Amino acid sequence: MSFLEIANISKTFGNVTAVSDVSLEIARGEFVTFLGPSGSGKSTTLYMIAGFFEPTRGDVRLEGRSILSEPSNKRNIGMVFQRYTLFPHLSVAENVAFPLRVRRRPAAEIAGKVEEMLALVRLESFAGRMPAQLSGGQQQRVALARALAYNPPLLLMDEPLSALDKKLREEIQDEIRRIHRQTGVTILYVTHDQEEALSLSDRIALFNHGKIEQLGKGRELYEAPRTRFVADFIGHSN
Ligand code: ADP
Ligand code: MG
Repeated sequence: MSFLEIANISKTFGNVTAVSDVSLEIARGEFVTFLGPSGSGKSTTLYMIAGFFEPTRGDVRLEGRSILSEPSNKRNIGMVFQRYTLFPHLSVAENVAFPLRVRRRPAAEIAGKVEEMLALVRLESFAGRMPAQLSGGQQQRVALARALAYNPPLLLMDEPLSALDKKLREEIQDEIRRIHRQTGVTILYVTHDQEEALSLSDRIALFNHGKIEQLGKGRELYEAPRTRFVADFIGHSN
């Protein structure tokens, strides 16, 4: 049994096929990236796992159980999406505490967890700040702390760094890599940036027109591209 099993999922919007018969198995603790050009179906696939979209066909199993009938907030999946932003009226600490409050955890546990999570993303001294007082990179780190606060076994990230400049992107990439190592959380990551994918991932699923064109270690895609599309996309640098 794999940790996460995506079995023949498809999604159509009217007459647009966004995702077409995608299958993928992910092991516990793996870091897998969906890479591909804009419109290739990466986010739609992630949103079906998250529970924002219902697949037209197919199944998603997490630790052996089908999760499609479970509402998004019951799936125990952490999410960091570019548009799934911090609550602007809550402090940094309150943002991180939010998923624990929803789960009615005791106050002492919440306080301890907030401290632990802010240390994990190295923002201990920012607990009392409001989101508007933080830089974009700091906001993404708080979002990461919030997503991991209740120890979800799976973390989904959709282009979390695309709004940031290059230096900041590299800094937060290091952070993500360290957090993956430290927590052992399984990560599914979406980007259109092949350098980011190559530097972060255990495996890459390269999307094209709603399908996975090639799946493997970055090195395999780079050295043994199975199609012209893979060679062009992985080799191309921006
Ligand atoms: P990516 O994340 O790889 O850029 P998406 O998964 O967002 O691609 O989109 C895949 C295709 O599905 C695109 O053609 C897009 O226009 C279409 N699509 C995505 N979401 C919707 C939606 N809510 N309604 C209609 N079409 C959509
Ligand atoms: Mg997208």
